[in-house]
Order: sequence, then C-alpha cells, then structure tokens
Amino acid sequence: MEKKSTGFSRRSFLKGAAASAVGIAALGLTGCGTNNSENGEKNQENQTPKNISETITADIVVVGAGSSGVCATVQAAQLGAKVVLLEKNSFLGGNGAGTEGMFAVGSRMQQELGVGTEINFRDVIATEGEFFNYRINSLFWKDMVEASADNLNWLIDCGVPFSGVVDNYHGLGKINAFHWFKEGNGKHYIDAMINKAEELGVDVRIKTPAKDLVLDNGKVVGIYAEKEDGSFLQIDCKAVILASGVYANNEEMMKERGYDLTYSINHGLPGHDGDGLRMAITAGGADVSRERCFLREPYSHGINFFGSMTQAIHRGGPFLWVNEDADRYVNEACGAITPGNNSNAVHSQRKSFLIFDSGVLETLAKNVENLVEDVEEAVAKCPSDNIYKADTIEELAEKVGLDPAALRKSVDRYNELCRKGVDEDFNKPADKMIELKKAPYYIFRQDLAFWTSIGGISTNRKMEVIDKMGEPVPGLYAVGVDGCELYRETYTMNIPASCNANNLHSGRVAAKNAVATHL
Ligand SMILES: Cc1cc2nc3c(=O)[nH]c(=O)nc-3n(C[C@H](O)[C@H](O)[C@H](O)COP(=O)(O)OP(=O)(O)OC[C@H]3O[C@@H](n4cnc5c(N)ncnc54)[C@H](O)[C@@H]3O)c2cc1C
Repeated sequence: MEKKSTGFSRRSFLKGAAASAVGIAALGLTGCGTNNSENGEKNQENQTPKNISETITADIVVVGAGSSGVCATVQAAQLGAKVVLLEKNSFLGGNGAGTEGMFAVGSRMQQELGVGTEINFRDVIATEGEFFNYRINSLFWKDMVEASADNLNWLIDCGVPFSGVVDNYHGLGKINAFHWFKEGNGKHYIDAMINKAEELGVDVRIKTPAKDLVLDNGKVVGIYAEKEDGSFLQIDCKAVILASGVYANNEEMMKERGYDLTYSINHGLPGHDGDGLRMAITAGGADVSRERCFLREPYSHGINFFGSMTQAIHRGGPFLWVNEDADRYVNEACGAITPGNNSNAVHSQRKSFLIFDSGVLETLAKNVENLVEDVEEAVAKCPSDNIYKADTIEELAEKVGLDPAALRKSVDRYNELCRKGVDEDFNKPADKMIELKKAPYYIFRQDLAFWTSIGGISTNRKMEVIDKMGEPVPGLYAVGVDGCELYRETYTMNIPASCNANNLHSGRVAAKNAVATHL
C-alpha cells in the first residue's frame, strides 16, 4: 500500500527527537522531496515524521476547534462517529469565540418574536447573487438559507444560549436575521458545543496542531499532529474535516496576496496560519484564496479602531479620498452600498488618504462626542507618520509626502463639484459633497484592520475538497472560512452573520457526508 504524507515542512520533519521505529514501520516509508504547496500542485514528497510518540485510530478528525469545527465535531459524534478534535492553540474557540451572532430565517426564535418572519430565500439571493454578478454558485446560498432554521434550532438543542434578540446588526444588514448569542458573546457558543462534544465522548486535544495529511492513492487515510513535547501524534482515520480558519495571521501568505501588514492590525485571535489551505493544496485541492475576501475595514494605524473617531471618519461620507498620486479615486460614500466596499476601495490603490477641513469636522462633531479633541490628539500623536494638520492644502501635502500641486488640483476639482451639487467624477450623493475650504485641514492615511480572511479551499456542496476540475479529494472536507463559497471579493454583511451561519451549516454538512460516505 502506498501511503504519502503531504506538505510537511522540512524543518518540522527534522525537529523531532529520535525516530520511532514503530511509526515508520507502520507507515512503511520514509524519504523527502520538495514542498510545492503554494503552487497548487500535488505534492510529491513522501515524508513521515520520525518521532511519532502516539498512534491512534478515529473515524473522523476535525482540524480546528472554532466556529465551524465544533459543529462538525458534534454532528459527526451524534451520528455515531469516533471523532478527534485537534486545536492548535492552548485555548478552544478560535475566532468563533469572538463572534456575536448567527444568521437564520424561520427559526423558532424568530417565530416566537415575530421578527423577520417575512424573509424568504428570494430576499437573500436577490441581494447576494446580483451583488456578485452571479459568479457565486447560488446553490451554496440556497442550501445554507434553507437549512438555517433547522441549524439554529439544533444549536439551541445542543445547549447554545442566545440572548432572545434578533435584528439587523446595528443597521448594517438588510434583513432582521441576526440572532445574538447570550451577551453577544461567542464564547458561550463554543463552551456549549465543547461540552456537548465531550459528553458525546469526543477526544478534544488543545496545543496539538495538525501538520500533514496521510494519503493512500489519493485518499485521505490519516493525519499527523504535533504534540506539546515536539513529538508527533499519528491518527489513522477515514476522513479529515479542515476547519482551521484560513490564513490572516500568516504574514508571508498575506504579503504574497498583496497585503503588507506593517501598518495593519488583526482583531482576530492567533493561529490562522493557512495550515488547512496548505494541506488541502498538497492533497490536490484547488486554491481559490486569491478570489476570496476578508473581513476588514479602513482605519489609521496606531489609533483605537473601536474609538468613535475612527468610526466617524473612516466609514466614508463627506471626505475627500486621494491616492499616492494625490488623485481622487472613488465615491467616498461607497460604504453605504455595503460596508465591505470601503476597504475594497482603499485596497484598490497603493495608498489612500482621507482629507477634511474644519467645517466638516465641526459638523460631524455635533453628533460625535469628543470628536474635535480626539482628532487633535491623533494629530499630536501621529503614531505612524500618518496623521497631519495644516493651514493650507499644500502644506498638508508636504507633511504627508504627497505632491502639493497635485493635491491642490484634486481639492479644487472636488470643491468645484461640491458647488455644482453633482459629483460628475464619481457619483457621490450630493448631500455628502461638502467643500473643503475652512482651515485648518486634516489628512489621515487609511490603513487596513483585519478580522479574518474568508475562503480559500474550493469545495462542492457536500463540502468535499475538490480539485480544479471539480473532482473530490476522497476523505477530505473543508468547512467554515477554510471553504466558504458564499462570497467572492467582498464580505458584504448585507445578510448579517451569514458567515457564521455558513460555519455552522458547512460543519454539519461535512460531518453528515463524511459519515455517510466513509463509515
Ligand atoms: C472577532 C471576530 C468576530 C466575528 N464575528 C462574526 C459574527 O458575529 N458573525 C459572523 O457571521 N461572522 C463573524 N466573524 C467571521 C467568521 O464567522 C469567524 O471568523 C469564524 O470564527 C470563522 O469560523 P472558522 O471555524 O472557520 O474559524 P475559527 O473560528 O477561527 O476556528 C479555526 C480554529 O482552527 C485552529 N487551527 C488553525 N490551524 C490549526 C491546525 N493546524 N491544527 C489545529 N487547529 C488549527 C485555530 O486556532 C482556530 O481555533 C467574526 C470574525 C472575527 C475575527
């Protein structure tokens, strides 16, 4: 029998102590080759960790104890599978513990509250399908939406506590379908699901990162995980469900996709290093991560993202946005269409700066407490060479390193359009076109704050990992944001908490299919 392990880094391969004769004999091979995982080609290396200190068997191994992994785990265990849940961190929950709620339509809670009862699938797909120009497979949405009530009710039956409030998430969503967890705290969700998993006899292991799949003629038959002492755990199993939360913490992978994190912040928890994506690619799965999106928003590095000033000035509106050439480049109110548009627009340029004058500041300050003080404090702090104030537009440009004449030209044109009352250049609504003419002027560089990347591994509706031609990799599933086929370049937030609903749905679907197909 030919068994092949994939994607195992040479460094970790060499890291361990003495070889385990039992482990090597059990696998019947050793050797090494090149790791070409980032090229999306099947990895030809045959590597087995030398220091396997423990070998166990399971039906299903779930990689990652976050939002989707806990659902896959409980569902598989409820169906009678022997499940091992691996978690890289020393704590459980991943970013799932930071989530606040879950989308559903037709849930018991909505019926009891009489909220959102009018919503149907047409409302959802009209928003999402058209937004993505039908490049998404609408069946992923249909499956998720149609199962959402049952999925949410199942969570409650598993013991997950909700607050009893269902709304449109601070007005950002277009429908009332955001079911708030108790205290808006995803930790309650994770704790309840882990309790349920343990009650069902699941072997839950923290500080045990999955490292590499074991393949037998292309089918997944096992996985290696690193134990705290540096030795390796080998799990022989029938299926693996990847739920590792993709790669937003991996600086190299982010850079390779065009994101320099020098001036960014990550609001998610650590551990999202692209391990699932790497393993899937090396098993033959298609890497679609470059066509997928992020939960991200503009801010200025070094300034409290959650402070009222950031929320008041970085969400678009009566500001002028210019790029590194001091050219105006967009309708600065594009975030009103969907919040993700702000960060998309910012990232469409090499650099982005927002400019306002004292007139705009005074107007905004009427509704935002301490705004003037906060802006002055930010200018005084200028934490990353990114926030300045000046009496003239030219002086402002010089301070931040823009061409003064070019910025003057952009401001003059913007002011001309404001006076006309029609944004002939970028179609910003007239009520957001306010002339910049009252000194002093302010400029903030727009950096990006990240929460998570969303999507990376191509799957079919069974959540089986598929190759570029749509052929499944037998025994391998991807769920949560490791898979996620709902969006393309934008996490829209029109359908509030659809991401979490997909974490839940994909986890259950993968578990059901893994049990039905491989047990
Ligand atoms: C702060 C925050 C709040 C959010 N709030 C919401 C919300 O309210 N509603 C919504 O719809 N979406 C929300 N999202 C988006 C999304 O739903 C979450 O990111 C969600 O946690 C994704 O679930 P997941 O299971 O894919 O990943 P996670 O929940 O992050 O779980 C992945 C787990 O895999 C572990 N892992 C990684 N590599 C390995 C490995 N090699 N071996 C073992 N374990 C590994 C990680 O440590 C982590 O615990 C939020 C995101 C963030 C960051």
